[in-house]
Amino acid sequence: MPNPLPPDSSPLPAGARLTPARRTVLAHLRAASAALSHPELLAALPQLDKVTLYRTLDWLVAQGLVHRLIGEDRVGRFHAAAADSAADAHFQCLRCGRTLCLTASEPAPKLPPGFRVERVEIVVRGYCPDCS
Ligand SMILES: [Zn+2]
Ligand SMILES: [Zn+2]
Repeated sequence: MPNPLPPDSSPLPAGARLTPARRTVLAHLRAASAALSHPELLAALPQLDKVTLYRTLDWLVAQGLVHRLIGEDRVGRFHAAAADSAADAHFQCLRCGRTLCLTASEPAPKLPPGFRVERVEIVVRGYCPDCS
């Protein structure tokens, strides 16, 4: 489902600057219906070389504008972050690969004494409305 927001309309973190490459990658991910891997992005955006694409994605992920999620096939794929979403909670469709940012995070599962939680990642897998 294409994101109706034009690439310029969402607020950027302070000090963040959208170079043409960053803008191109972000706009492409926002328009994409499913999360995309490095090779898929490289094929879709032939004007960017491999190194530029890697650096651009690293930057977008660091700014929280893009999330990277590892699929069941162990391939990392990128999607545009939804507004106010956590980077650590997602739904992933097992058929079409549609990836949805979720906001609500459950508390961490109980750990044995002496263990400390740093980070909880939740991936809910199932079927989106188009695939159910
Ligand atoms: Zn689906
Ligand atoms: Zn996300």
